[in-house]
Amino acid sequence: MKKNRIIFHFAAAVFLTLPLLGYAKSEPKAKYVFYFIGDGMGIQHITATQNYLAGVEGAPMANKQLSFTTFPVTGFVQTYSDNRYITGSAAAGTALAAGYKTSVNTIGLAPNRIDTLHSIAYYAHNAGFNVGVATSVSVDHATPAAFYAHQPLRSNYHAISHDMIRAGYKFFAGGGFKDPFGKKTDNPQGNIFEKGQQSGFYFTNSLSVTDSVINSYKSIVYTLDKPASGAALKYQIDSNDDDVTLSQVTSMGIDILDSPNGFLFMVEGGKIDWAAHDNDAATVIHDVVALSDAVDIALQFYTQYPEQTLIVVTSDHETGGMSVGRRGSRYQSNVPLLAKQKLSLDQLNVEVGNFISRKKTKPTLNETIQFLSNPQVLGMDSKRLTKAQLKRMSDAYSVAVLPQTAKQAEANSKLYKSYNPIAITAVQLLNEMAGIGWTTGSHTASHVPVYAIGAGDYLFSGQLNNTDIPRRIATAMGLQVDFK
Ligand SMILES: [Zn+2]
Repeated sequence: MKKNRIIFHFAAAVFLTLPLLGYAKSEPKAKYVFYFIGDGMGIQHITATQNYLAGVEGAPMANKQLSFTTFPVTGFVQTYSDNRYITGSAAAGTALAAGYKTSVNTIGLAPNRIDTLHSIAYYAHNAGFNVGVATSVSVDHATPAAFYAHQPLRSNYHAISHDMIRAGYKFFAGGGFKDPFGKKTDNPQGNIFEKGQQSGFYFTNSLSVTDSVINSYKSIVYTLDKPASGAALKYQIDSNDDDVTLSQVTSMGIDILDSPNGFLFMVEGGKIDWAAHDNDAATVIHDVVALSDAVDIALQFYTQYPEQTLIVVTSDHETGGMSVGRRGSRYQSNVPLLAKQKLSLDQLNVEVGNFISRKKTKPTLNETIQFLSNPQVLGMDSKRLTKAQLKRMSDAYSVAVLPQTAKQAEANSKLYKSYNPIAITAVQLLNEMAGIGWTTGSHTASHVPVYAIGAGDYLFSGQLNNTDIPRRIATAMGLQVDFK
């Protein structure tokens, strides 16, 4: 008895003293934080990607893990906005950045579009952390902007880019800027490259910068020399070996941000959403893989500092109402069939246009189908098309190639939107054959997943609200924030 009590006292003494000596395993503090956002990435975008990857390796009745689907903690996130149940990127980005639900199209302001909402990036920057904001779309796009800008409209691209200079975080990266000179606004604030240079910004098109640049400039901004349309990185499916990837941008960010002060690094996979708006499943899948690869770079960092690193991966909303399984296909799906598609719908539009215009005489329907059957294009097997599907292709061909009356042209512009009718019909048919369904060209109200690993990961389990995520990241970091 007595001996036990002595042991107990000894144990209690050790237990109480250890924290003072710094031996105790105290609450983990996240010093290095990665915050990945797959724009428009719903659970079925992830499902399709996992099944696609397993299928192309010969196991179509299985799923392959992505980097983040192996994380130990998962939860579901509610995405609705202040004034619309189906949210948009600006309101959802603001919720994920500033822990507060705002009105659609609003960046970093309360629903009244007047009161400032400060983001977790702002608080981390003020507390001495290095802060990075990177995206595969333009630096001034809604999701990255929510971390540094305050604008009543997400389309105030020029003003948003000037807010970037005011924020002064250590690292910004993306394809480019949509209105850097203020040509598309009534209130130009000046050339942001000049203004930035006056404020200690270093703009570069190179993925590597010297230590002396890192140490002597307040902020480093990486953009592409020749961005894709929308001032973005190329879609992963359209990229060649020499095209810049989100992983490379993530590596660059780590090189710049890594310091004894710790960092908060937001990385957005922005074009998952764009491809989903196009209902283009193959392009969605390749961009989900690109995000997963970027998370892998963060995981390599995590393995060096597992006690001090937190990685959170989530989404702002679901886009497209995407599903594996569709009306008419019953229980059949063949997601790996999408491997036949070698370019995005975006790029296919261009290629089909070139194909039609480069021929002296207009191509026949058969020649057009043959073009789509090229393994470098869609590898479309026309023998597998049903009569109804062939009819749709032939209708699209007529609209794209044969003369139309003004009335027909108007009706067709509604049917095919701004796409080349042949290109969009071909991608739709491939999606159908793969058993992929789409319910909308816009967003849905679906919950989105969140995945976490590392210091404070347990904070991200269960059903969360999007506004909880930055609050819990702040808790994990031990960061004082004054969110509304
Ligand atoms: Zn979005």
